[in-house]
Amino acid sequence: VEYYVVQPIQDRMRKKYSLEDFTLGTKLGQGGFGVVYFATNNETGEPYVLKRADDYGEAEEWMNRRMQIAAWNACAPYVGSWQGEPSKPGAYPPLWLAWKYEGGRTLFEFMKEKDFPYNLEPYLFPDEESYPRTLAVGDPERTAATIRAIMSQCLDLLVQMHGTGIVHRDVKPENLIFDENTQRFKLIDFGGSADLRFGVNYVPKQFIFDPRYAAPEQYIMSTQTPEAPFPPIALALSPVLWQLNLPDRFDMYSLGIMYLQLCFKSLRTDAGVQKLRKDLTASNESLSAWRRANEAKIRDPEAWAILDANDQAGWEFARLLTKKIPRRRISAMTSKFDRFMLNRPSLLKKIDR
Ligand code: ADP
Ligand code: MG
Repeated sequence: VEYYVVQPIQDRMRKKYSLEDFTLGTKLGQGGFGVVYFATNNETGEPYVLKRADDYGEAEEWMNRRMQIAAWNACAPYVGSWQGEPSKPGAYPPLWLAWKYEGGRTLFEFMKEKDFPYNLEPYLFPDEESYPRTLAVGDPERTAATIRAIMSQCLDLLVQMHGTGIVHRDVKPENLIFDENTQRFKLIDFGGSADLRFGVNYVPKQFIFDPRYAAPEQYIMSTQTPEAPFPPIALALSPVLWQLNLPDRFDMYSLGIMYLQLCFKSLRTDAGVQKLRKDLTASNESLSAWRRANEAKIRDPEAWAILDANDQAGWEFARLLTKKIPRRRISAMTSKFDRFMLNRPSLLKKIDR
């Protein structure tokens, strides 16, 4: 097992790539801190993705190396990095990073399509004769099953990442790439991630969190501990710091916003999600207050039906993910056993009856 799992990864990491090994193709993305290109390997013709990171390249490299070893299933196959030429003499040289190309669509692209989430059914439930594809089109239970399957994959990814001591801090549909080979979503874009175990990228120099998805707590660690401890001390203190601050709950909040977007069509636009965040801020981050104010306005009977089915299992799950206080917010591991995720009836109601 060790040979088959570790050796291919080590081989990938050992080969030293440079820009000459690739032919650059179209631009796939441009963030504030770098540019991402599609590229073909000149030797093999295989598709790759290259990122020219003008900032946070070292952090991204660190996280990818750690993830390749500890959670290789949860991220795009990272193959290495090299230093690029500075844009002008004396400027800070950029870092190029390379991954295998996973496919042309992120969850964001799927979400933008009109028939979402039905467009994911062929991948998540390949057998047309099986549940939930036997249910009628338009049955909220059919949509709920797909949303549950997407959430289940995201939770598996975060369980792996958090178990490694890394917090992603930029969880959103754009950063969940659909791997066409394994037909599963994987995490990408670790430039803003923090490795609590080694104290890497603990407090970024700039405010880099996406305001649409960032948890209300701006820094994932309490303000009393702004600096990461020296690595060996960080390693020893990591479990303690983790328990004190629960940094992983930052990602859980982002996932909560994403979950609401999966349910409500009107939240799938920038304006929609921005309005949601504004309303939440105004109501001291109370999702119940948001519902009271918006239930009549948001005409999406299917979404409300999904959330209210099964004694409001889906609604309770949304509330647990978006709690203001990190300690009250549900973790990735606990979420896997949530009543919505398990699709279980409420035990309490049964006893009452
Ligand atoms: P940023 O958001 O900082 O620009 P990302 O790492 O998120 O950089 O990459 C930008 C886009 O490039 C992603 O949203 C995705 O569409 C595409 N992409 C990134 N990595 C891969 C990959 N391994 N395979 C296929 N597409 C990718
Ligand atoms: Mg991104």
